[in-house]
Amino acid sequence: MTKYKPAFNNLFAFEDYKVCGVSVEKDNVLVNLSKRRKTGICPCCERRCKVVEAFQRKVRDLSVSGRDCYLELQTYHVSCKCGYYGMEKLDFLDKYSRYTNRFVQYVAELCKTMSLVDVSNAAHIDWKTAKRIDLLELEKLITSLEKVNPTGIGIDEIAYEKGHKYLTVVREIGGGVIWIGKGRKKDTLNEFFTELGEKKCRKITVAVIDMWNPYIASIKENTNAEIVFDKFHVIKKINEAVDKIRKKEFAQASEDERIRMKRKRFLILKRGENLSKDQKDSLEELMVKNTNLYVAYLLKEQVSEVFEETDLKKGIARLEKWIENVRKINVDAFSKVLEMMESHWEGIINYFKHHLTNAASEGFNRKINVIRRRACGFRDLHYFQLKILQTCQ
Ligand SMILES: [Zn+2]
Repeated sequence: MTKYKPAFNNLFAFEDYKVCGVSVEKDNVLVNLSKRRKTGICPCCERRCKVVEAFQRKVRDLSVSGRDCYLELQTYHVSCKCGYYGMEKLDFLDKYSRYTNRFVQYVAELCKTMSLVDVSNAAHIDWKTAKRIDLLELEKLITSLEKVNPTGIGIDEIAYEKGHKYLTVVREIGGGVIWIGKGRKKDTLNEFFTELGEKKCRKITVAVIDMWNPYIASIKENTNAEIVFDKFHVIKKINEAVDKIRKKEFAQASEDERIRMKRKRFLILKRGENLSKDQKDSLEELMVKNTNLYVAYLLKEQVSEVFEETDLKKGIARLEKWIENVRKINVDAFSKVLEMMESHWEGIINYFKHHLTNAASEGFNRKINVIRRRACGFRDLHYFQLKILQTCQ
């Protein structure tokens, strides 16, 4: 042992301790540590102070050669001049923890990419313990809204529990998720603004959202921000109208035509510029025979192009022109879209002013879905919220 002592002291270099023995049991490695001093550090004033009592502890540390490793050591109760009385401060072990900080870090790191069951198998701990460790680490991530000063926010909803329940997710534009609340009502978002405080609410100049009335109401009530409706949400509504026409045409088509139309939904809804030559030919063949669908398709393609306009005035003019065209053609399925666009006009044209979308939150949503799949649906909502904050920082 003497010969290897420096190496062991290096592997278990904990302040105030030295290795005094290592033994290998069946599946475990046991490392005995002894104190180098008869004083301990006060967690309040960081001064060295008198020891009152010593406690024997056994804590889990990182594995050694594939075996679970435990440390046996003494920790002190100290009495300090500053008035503190209690457990000394150690830089590698929390007060009452049964795991060293580096073991906790290891488990938390695994939890970022693995399911709790997999973590439990990899680290040889109960999955509930893995979750408890992960939760404690995640809770350190919660920064209060005191630390953020958003001038632009993006608000989105995400479904959980098979789509019946929703969370409202607030993102700082150009940054990460700053707040998550349960539900998608006006009151839900009001909670965020209340937590943020009146002064900071007034500094928000722009909010990007879907056309969801409860959010609109809350933003208007709490801020002076300009609302921008996510253009992808507008385009999605138009795509839905095109799809409605496709379904109607399909229902009225002959058997032969139906065979031709089948499986072309994807071609119709995809942006024309993203189609291959074969796909374009196939789409054209379909369109020649279906005038209504062709018209709707062109309108959809046009509006996507309009939203690429970078100039505010031109953007508005082109969108107005587009609406005029839709009216002339008088396609039934588009009337609802027009209604929706008219009642949300200001927020829609604000896109040409700010050029902001919630595309970043789409990326976040993909990550959130990965978390959800890994956990086979999150029943513990608090844990789910924290995992979202961790992943979407
Ligand atoms: Zn003290």
